[in-house]
Amino acid sequence: MTAAAIPNFIAGRWVRSDATEALEVSDPATGEPLGRTPLSGPAEVDAAVRAAQAAFPAWRATPAVERTRVLFRLKGLLEAHKADLARSLTREHGKIVAESAGEIQRGIENVEHACGIPTLMMGETLEDVARGIDCETIRQPLGVFAAITPYNFPVMIPLWFWPYAVATGNTVVLKPSEQDPLTHQRIVDLAMEAGLPPGVLNVVHGAREAVTAILEHPGITGVSFVGSSGTARFVYARAAEHGKRVQALGGAKNHMIVLPDADLDATMDAVVSSVYGSTGQRCLAGSVIVGVGEAYRPVKDRLLARAGGLKLGAGLDDGVDMGPVISAQHRERVVDYIAQGARDGAALLLDGRSARVARLPKGHWVGPTVLENVTPDMPVGREEIFGPVAGLARAGSLEAALELVHRNQYGNAISLFTTSGKAAREFRYRAGISMIGINIGVVAPMAFFPFGGSRGSFYGDLKAQGRDAVEFYTDRRVVISRW
Ligand code: NAD
Repeated sequence: MTAAAIPNFIAGRWVRSDATEALEVSDPATGEPLGRTPLSGPAEVDAAVRAAQAAFPAWRATPAVERTRVLFRLKGLLEAHKADLARSLTREHGKIVAESAGEIQRGIENVEHACGIPTLMMGETLEDVARGIDCETIRQPLGVFAAITPYNFPVMIPLWFWPYAVATGNTVVLKPSEQDPLTHQRIVDLAMEAGLPPGVLNVVHGAREAVTAILEHPGITGVSFVGSSGTARFVYARAAEHGKRVQALGGAKNHMIVLPDADLDATMDAVVSSVYGSTGQRCLAGSVIVGVGEAYRPVKDRLLARAGGLKLGAGLDDGVDMGPVISAQHRERVVDYIAQGARDGAALLLDGRSARVARLPKGHWVGPTVLENVTPDMPVGREEIFGPVAGLARAGSLEAALELVHRNQYGNAISLFTTSGKAAREFRYRAGISMIGINIGVVAPMAFFPFGGSRGSFYGDLKAQGRDAVEFYTDRRVVISRW
C-alpha cells in the first residue's frame, strides 16, 4: 500500500503538491509507511509567499493583543492534544514517547512566551532629546519570514520561530523537515482552530529545491534555519546574498568535562541521558566525555555499566530507554563513524553496531556505543555523529580539557561537572561556547532565553527564542518629532 501524499498548506487550505517526486516518511521502529513528502518546487514556494504577502496587511493591522489571543487558544489546544501529538511524533521520529512529550512541552513554552509580545514588543521614548523634540523607537513587523527546520525536533523547532514571527505581526512560510513533517501538520490544524487567519502561516514541503527557492525569493524578508552546519552555511550565504535577514543554527560536537570532585552519581545520570537520550540525535547531545585526572577511571567504568544496560526498542513500548535512529541512511552514517573510530585507533569498549530488536527487524537500530582514547584529530572526536556514541578522552587539568575542546570547530554546548564553585567560575569564564552547563547534561535554554551556538554551530547574530526572536522578527524604527 502506498502511503498518502502529504499536502502543502497555502492560504488556509490543504493543497496537493504538483511535485512529481516524493520521499516516503515511515516509522523508524517498524518501517510502516506513514506518508509521502512531496518535493515541491519554486512555483509552490511562490504560491505560499504570495498567500503570506496577501495576508500581511490585515494581520499587521490586527492589534497585538488580538494576535496573541490566537496563541493563547493554540496553547490550550496543544495541551489538550499533547498525548496524541506525542504518540504521532514518536511514530514518525522514533524517539521514546516521554521524549516526545518533553519536546511538545518545550514547543508549548515557546507559544506561551510569544503570548507576551504586547509587552516584549514595546518601544522606548525619550522626551526633549533637544528642546521641544521627542524621540521614540517603535518595533514594526517586516512582512514574510521563512522557517526551514530539521528532523530531530520536528515539533519544537518550528515553534521556536513561527509563533514569534506571527505574534509580532509578520506572516510565515514554513519548510519543515521532509523526513518527519506529519505531527506539525496537525499543529497547523490546531492553529487554524485557534483562529489564525488564512495565509498567516503557510507550509511548503520539500528539500533542497524548495529551500533554494525560499532563499532567493524577493518576497521573503528573513529566514530562520536550523540544520547541519554545511547547510546552515549555505543558507546563511545564499539568503544574505539575496538581501535577507538570516539566523542559521548548525550542528554540534559537545564536550562534557568531569572533574575529580564531581558528584559521580548525579554526573553519570546527566551524562548518560545527554549522550543516549533521543538516540543521540540532539544538537545538545554530549559527544565527548573528558575525564580530568582521577575522574577518568570511574567515569569510564560507570558509563560502560550504565550504557550497556539501556534497553532499545520502539518508542511507544513500555520500558524502552532508546528508540531507533531516523532512517537506514542515517544508521549507515553512524555505523560508519564507529568503524572509522576503531580504525583510527580508538578502543571500541561497547559496540552498538549489531544491536537488533528481534520483534522489529525493519527498525533502524544502533545500540549504545562507547569509544575510548578519542582524540580531537579523529573524525569521531571532531565531527558530529548524531547517534548514540560516546567518545572518552582524558585530560590532566581543566585547562587542558578546555584546550582540547577549543580545537573543535563547533561551539554549541559544553558542560562541566564539579562541586567546586571556583572551578565552575573559571570554566564559565573560559568556556568560549554559547550554551554552558554546570552540572547539567543537556544545556537547553528555556523559551525566554536565547537558543543557539557560536563558531561553526551558528551563522548570524540573533538567536532563536526569547528576546532575540522579537528582535529578529521586527525592525526598530526611530521617530523624532517636533510639534
Ligand atoms: P539538514 O541540514 O539535513 O536539514 C535541515 C533542513 O535543511 C531541512 O529542512 C532540509 O530539507 C534542508 N536541507 C537539507 N539539505 C539541504 C541542502 N543541501 N540545501 C538546502 N536545504 C537543505 O539537518 P537534519 O539532518 O534535518 O537535522 C540534523 C542537524 O540539525 C544536526 O546537524 C543538528 O545538530 C542540527 N540541529 C541544530 C540545532 C541547533 O540548535 N543548533 C537544533 C537541532 C538540530
